[in-house]
This record gives sequence, structure tokens and C-alpha cells, in this order.
Amino acid sequence: METRVCRLYGQHDLRIETADVPQPGPGEVLVAIGAGGICGSDLHYFQDGGFGPIRVREPIILGHEIAGTISALGEGVTSLKVGQKVAVNPSRPCRTCKYCTEGLFAHCLAMRFMGSALRFPHEQGGFRDLVVTDAIQCEPVGAHVDHAEAACAEPLAVCLHAANQAGQLEGRHVLITGAGPIGLLCLAAARRAGAASITVTDLQDATLAVATRMGASQTINVMTQPEALEPFKADKGHFNVVFECSAAAPALRAAIECVRPRGRIVQVGVTGDLPIPVNLIVGKEIEFVGTHRFHEEYALAARLIDSGEIDVKPVISHRFALDDAEEAFRIAGDRSQAIKVSLTFASA
Ligand SMILES: [Zn+2]
Ligand SMILES: [Zn+2]
Repeated sequence: METRVCRLYGQHDLRIETADVPQPGPGEVLVAIGAGGICGSDLHYFQDGGFGPIRVREPIILGHEIAGTISALGEGVTSLKVGQKVAVNPSRPCRTCKYCTEGLFAHCLAMRFMGSALRFPHEQGGFRDLVVTDAIQCEPVGAHVDHAEAACAEPLAVCLHAANQAGQLEGRHVLITGAGPIGLLCLAAARRAGAASITVTDLQDATLAVATRMGASQTINVMTQPEALEPFKADKGHFNVVFECSAAAPALRAAIECVRPRGRIVQVGVTGDLPIPVNLIVGKEIEFVGTHRFHEEYALAARLIDSGEIDVKPVISHRFALDDAEEAFRIAGDRSQAIKVSLTFASA
């Protein structure tokens, strides 16, 4: 049996090739992929050949935001059925290292995360028509759920984890800096958690319009109306919680200025070094916390999409057939028009 795969050889060198697919072994299933979302990391691999110290050192099949339909079961798999739609969890902690033993699965020392060039050999990803994976990685969703929406379980899980890192959100005033897919799904997570108000900033009106559709109380284009943030800086700040999703120095600075004393900033966006006004962090007793991937939140994300409790549809801005992957990556890199770009595979 053969499958098409979307393999990156290096910067801007993306090839659609065919590869053999093994039969699913014991505990495994064969999934016919329906859709795969292009993530920032996929984009960095494509545009720059990697990010920071993580480089593409051998051909890698990209993709970790995938969903599809079960097409064959390996021996002993009773939890899933052929024909069932599933979101595929790309995170595979070893479950035996010291962090896994403590339940800190996202910090696994031997993490195998689909489509990641962190380890060598690289962990191959899910942008392919057929993939064999462990049954335990599959979260069933109903037949009514669109594959591209189910594939959003991964970025939504990231944001549900970020919301857990934020502490109490109910009744709180929340600021989200950056309205890309992660900022928008943090908005959805904060709404679900009962935030009293959610203000969203970005440099693009198009993405801010989507934030409004998804229930933002207020949106601010910090490029065209920078003064709109000023009132939130008065009297030592206004917001209880900030989700900093842009990883841009001015946004982090604004977050620190706009958060109340003892407020919490959850740093979701990733980048290299940024200057930080330490005196403000100290003087306002700000909690500055990180958030990394997810674990149990993946199953929850799939359930929330399945039930319609969180509607991820507005986040999906474009869909492209796998054969047009180059164009899909080009559009995904254009923030003025793209939010989440979804690739469509054979079983869609
Ligand atoms: Zn992702
Ligand atoms: Zn581990």
C-alpha cells in the first residue's frame, strides 16, 4: 500500500512524494487523513529551514494538526471502529522518564511529537493520505464534525492548557495580544472559562474582525490606534490576565504595562530573546508564566469541538488540496489574509 506524503527537504523545498504504508501492528490503527492544519512551526520549517536551534537536518514529513477516518485496525484494538472519524493527538510522551512518572507528560525527556525536527532522526509528521498510529493517539469525534475542524483539536489543546496556566478566569478581565490561530483559540478558551471581558490586540484588521466574531469584547489594532491601549495602563493597569500570543517585544511591553498588580501574564508565543521591563514585573508583583503544549487537554479539545461548545470554524481561513501545498504554505505566511490554512487529503 502506498500514500502521498508532504515532505520538506530544506528551506522552500517541499515535495509531494509517495511512500509505503505498513499494515497497522498490535495496538495500532491505519488512519486515512482528511485534513491537516499548517502550524507556525511547519511554516518556520518551510520558510527558514527551522527556528532557533531546531533545524531540518533530514527530509521530514511536516504536520501535527491532523484528523481523519479509521480505515483499518491492528490486532487487539477494540476502542475504535473502521469508518470512525478521529482527531489524531501528535504528542507521544514516553510514559517512563522522570517527568512522565510525575505526570508532567508535556515535559517528557523522550517526547516523540509528530512532524518535529527537534530530535534526530526527526519525528515524521501527518501531512499524508494514510498514517499508521497508536490507537491511543486517536480521539473519536462524531461524523458531523468536519475534518479541518477536528484537526484544530491540537492548537485548541495548546490554548486550553494556556488557560489552565492562567489560573482563575471566571469574572476576570483578559487581554490577548496577537489574534492568530492561537490568540483566537485562547479567546475561545477564556470565554468558555467565564472571563468577564476579553480585549484582543493585533496589527491586522482582518484577524481582529474574526476575534469580534468569536466574542471579543473589544479589539484594538495597535498599528492604527496605539492610543487605544493607554487607558488600560492607568492606575497600574487593568487586566487580571494576559495571554501574550505574539512574541513581539512591543506587545510584551504593553502586556506588562496593562496588567494589574498581582496579575498574571501567560507567555504563549515563542521567540528568541526579548527585552523585559523587570522593574515593572517586580513593582507590580506580576506573575509571568510559560505554557508548553498540552496533555490531557487534547481529549477535552476534541470533545469541545465535537459538541460544538467551542466553534473553531471562524479560525479556518483557507483550504487547499495537498497538491497545492506550496501555495498553501505561501498563503499561510501572509498574515494579512490567512489565519489557519488547512490542507485537504484523499479521505476528505
Ligand atoms: Zn500546532
Ligand atoms: Zn517521558
